[in-house]
Amino acid sequence: DARIARISSSIRVIPNFPKPGVMFQDITTMLLDPKAFKDTIDLFVERYKDKDISVVAGVEARGFIFGPPIALAIGAKFVPMRKPGKLPGEVISEEYSLEYGTDKMEMHVGAVEAGERAIVIDDLIATGGTLSAAIKLLERVGLHVVESACVIELPELKGRDRLGDKPLFVLIKAA
Ligand code: IMP
Repeated sequence: DARIARISSSIRVIPNFPKPGVMFQDITTMLLDPKAFKDTIDLFVERYKDKDISVVAGVEARGFIFGPPIALAIGAKFVPMRKPGKLPGEVISEEYSLEYGTDKMEMHVGAVEAGERAIVIDDLIATGGTLSAAIKLLERVGLHVVESACVIELPELKGRDRLGDKPLFVLIKAA
């Protein structure tokens, strides 16, 4: 797909960010190329438009960039999954482990109803900890998580394995 090549070349890699040894995949340069950004959204919309999905859950922060245009195009609601202490209403939260320590993800109670079909979206999957926490949180409130979706996968970190039998759809695999 020619679209994938364009998307791939629109993503910038910044070495040693946020710390030495990390090759940071920076999707902000893709946002500067409206064709690449639109192709990205279109590829997800083509995949999810006829799948009876009523919830697009986006993971803070870059899931907030890709999630809303997909949700609008497929006629689903957008639900933000946020860092702790950011959502003003009553929340349900899920703790997950990081390389050092733990973090938490929160979602508003009442944003979704048991039985709804959801996808989870983020820019990138590394170890899979973030996406697996998002999936757990959505499943705890009775949602059927159809799939998770990312622009980029770092396959060496085997994040896919951490999602168990839950499908993962990605546009680009980065070294
Ligand atoms: P994981 O939980 O280890 O899979 O890490 C994924 C989370 O970290 C996602 O929310 C990503 O946005 C973020 N992340 C990790 N590495 C990168 C990167 O190279 N570029 C952009 N985001 C990254």
